[in-house]
Amino acid sequence: MYDVTSSKAEEFISHEEILATLEYGEKNKSNREEIDRILNKAREKKGITHQEALVLLDCDIDEKNEEIYALAREIKEEFYGNRIVMFAPLYLSNYCINGCEYCPYHAKNKHIARKKLTQEEVVKEVIALQDMGHKRLALEAGEDPVNNPIEYILECIQTIYGIKHKNGAIRRVNINIAATTVENYRKLKDAGIGTYILFQETYHKKNYEKLHPTGPKHDYAYHTEAMDRAMDGGIDDVGLGVLFGLNNYRYDFAGIIMHAEHLEAAKGVGPHTISVPRLRRADDIDPEVFDNGISDELFAKIVACIRIAVPYTGMIVSTRESAETRKKVLQLGISQISGGSKTSVGGYVEPELEEENSAQFEVSDQRTLDEVVRWLMEMNFVPSFCTACYREGRTGDRFMTLLKSRQIVNCCHPNALMTLKEYLEDYASPKTKEIGEALIQKELNVITNPKVRQKAEEYIANIHNGERDFRF
Ligand code: SF4
Ligand code: SF4
Repeated sequence: MYDVTSSKAEEFISHEEILATLEYGEKNKSNREEIDRILNKAREKKGITHQEALVLLDCDIDEKNEEIYALAREIKEEFYGNRIVMFAPLYLSNYCINGCEYCPYHAKNKHIARKKLTQEEVVKEVIALQDMGHKRLALEAGEDPVNNPIEYILECIQTIYGIKHKNGAIRRVNINIAATTVENYRKLKDAGIGTYILFQETYHKKNYEKLHPTGPKHDYAYHTEAMDRAMDGGIDDVGLGVLFGLNNYRYDFAGIIMHAEHLEAAKGVGPHTISVPRLRRADDIDPEVFDNGISDELFAKIVACIRIAVPYTGMIVSTRESAETRKKVLQLGISQISGGSKTSVGGYVEPELEEENSAQFEVSDQRTLDEVVRWLMEMNFVPSFCTACYREGRTGDRFMTLLKSRQIVNCCHPNALMTLKEYLEDYASPKTKEIGEALIQKELNVITNPKVRQKAEEYIANIHNGERDFRF
């Protein structure tokens, strides 16, 4: 029985409700009247239900699809402007006891080099990331209570926040680790993490169990209810994601919107981010089995429909996607991207040897952070290294309230420009710096509040003179 506020996975992600949603989408995909009704509701920019979102995803009327894309672009512009927040993943350990069939870190893969960073290696990796200009990391580790216990993760977080190197500083550490207990989530909260990210992979219980035949991750309910436990442990910001291509995309699309609805209804605050990874080739993974044919066009439609369904949730795309695909989805709703990523353990200091094969997936976008930053600016986006909200305590419902009232925009734009200025001063190549300085001057004029603009100009001059870390 479907119950959005239930604490049980099979009730808030009810299989029957998803089947009814899929049927509703199929029935209405050419129904102009219903599509117009949904679009009119969506134009209020307060979100739409999972059923309504699926009708838009299924919509097969070209002219209505154009309206869907236009609305997604409008919502993106209104809530997130032309800013794109930058981050990088940091792989701590690829030891894993799970049997996920689509991931090369699965326990039975014997030809992958297993590695776990020591604290000294963590320092080296983080310094390499700081020297690129990163301020925001997502820590990644497999599930292994012996090799990667929670104490190891906590120690790494402490090490990372403690690193002082030139003007570099990691100001927000997000965590992507296996589902765990309320007690452990509380420990992560106390260690000062930003967002807790956990991908569901697929919401289809039977397929989920088949794809995760062994290890603790096999437990669908424990995995699906992890975000509730994280919030019970005091973590305000959680990040959802499904691995598109693993299962029927319509099923997982409905599932992820239902999950967002559940968190809002049961915990009072929806997800902070939604990630949209698509399956990539990797070691020991048969691409024939897992290529469920998510075309670039369909991928863009998924991004646009999520943007419309949950306007208040940031959206993330990684370097799994090519520059070309990233360009397309940036306009439709993506607000965070990674840049200069390495998906192997220790990969930032020592590019890995081919025979080691320890990357989790192939990176499509192989450009350096400097190249990605310049590319964004050439398209008139403002790359942002901002972490202000988290550090000002604007998390969870405080963040959402500000975002919903559009007030966040008064902080984001100047913060983006100031953190970009820091990047240009400390890390950018001459060409990137030249483009960036001109962009900052142009974008300062976008700030409408004269007091805020004046303050931002002052702070930017101070950054030029060597000071750091200003924020609104
Ligand atoms: Fe382990 Fe995560 Fe890979 Fe599964 S997806 S094998 S849990 S690292
Ligand atoms: Fe993100 Fe807050 Fe910075 Fe805006 S001000 S970019 S919402 S951290």
